[in-house]
Amino acid sequence: MKKHNFSSGPAILPLPVFEQAAEAVRDFNGMGLSILEISHRSPEFTAVMEEANVLIRDLLNVPDDYAILFLQGGASSQFFMTAMNLLDQDAKAGYIDTGSWSTKAIKEAQAFGTVETLASSKPDNFTYIPKGFAIPEDLAYVHITTNNTIYGTQFKTLPETSVPMVGDMSSDIFSQPVDVSRFDLIYAGAQKNMGPAGATLVIVRKEALGKVKRHIPTMLDYRTHVKKDSAFNTPPVFPIYVSMLTLRWIKANGGIPAMQQKNAAKAELIYREIDRNPMFKGTVTDPADRSTMNATFVLAEGKEHLNDEFMQLCKAANCSGVKGHRSVGGFRASMYNAMEIESVQALVQVMQSFERKFG
Ligand SMILES: *Cc1c(COP(=O)(O)O)cnc(C)c1O
Repeated sequence: MKKHNFSSGPAILPLPVFEQAAEAVRDFNGMGLSILEISHRSPEFTAVMEEANVLIRDLLNVPDDYAILFLQGGASSQFFMTAMNLLDQDAKAGYIDTGSWSTKAIKEAQAFGTVETLASSKPDNFTYIPKGFAIPEDLAYVHITTNNTIYGTQFKTLPETSVPMVGDMSSDIFSQPVDVSRFDLIYAGAQKNMGPAGATLVIVRKEALGKVKRHIPTMLDYRTHVKKDSAFNTPPVFPIYVSMLTLRWIKANGGIPAMQQKNAAKAELIYREIDRNPMFKGTVTDPADRSTMNATFVLAEGKEHLNDEFMQLCKAANCSGVKGHRSVGGFRASMYNAMEIESVQALVQVMQSFERKFG
């Protein structure tokens, strides 16, 4: 039986995508060859890249002057690559520090220019999204992590600024509409809400590139990949193919507005139970900041000794991946696009039976 997969990443993908991906490993499009053994320059694979590109443009309304790239190295490589390509040595970028991923992005960017942390919720263990901070006009860009996978917080509105932004959208891309034109660059590791690990999506405004004075190694220069449509060298063919299948699935299931609605319904269900159930409490202090993708919660005061008992009940009900990140503790229910509301209902039932047994 397929488990309810609440893993934060690599994470759940739609069942039909798994089936189509499995078939393509055996025989891709009736070619008599596996997707794993054909050239990345074959017309068959070039068509996959093109379709992925068209789907992303269509789903996110990506303006024409932006390029869509599939790179390797994970979102973590984007922490330095963004700064290397967009931040000159004598220039300044602003960062909002909302979690471990932002902190890492800040650290990497410091090697390339001046980094100003405009706001941080670190002293409160990242339990909220900072608001009302000033954004200087002279910044090269403002970097935000739109969804904080570990801490369960999410920017519900973008910061007010005319400075272009750089967004780490690894864990909420394609979950809700986004105004791409507010960003010079968006990046996302595939393995949270788009596909398997191994591909990183980058959406970049072409005009923003080529402005820094430093030498950039060929493979780390976005312009290399823009010029060669992500095929300067061998791209991660299988993760790109599976991502394309997921994008097709999103489109066939009503596109981003439908995903947003479904995600809102799942989030409402889990947060209502977290708030109602006296055995638990949410970790995010401002309910307005609660992530629709990753719900974080812990045992209520005096109940902390029941951690293993709750995990046991989760396991017995086929709910997998509910353990929280070690820096927050407790539990985390990741509810990406492919998760059906029935899985969240199953977890809510576990929470209720936990209350009946141990409350
Ligand atoms: C998972 C994650 C990362 C790291 O992604 P990798 O592809 O493993 O490098 C970065 N940012 C966010 C928001 C994430 O959720």
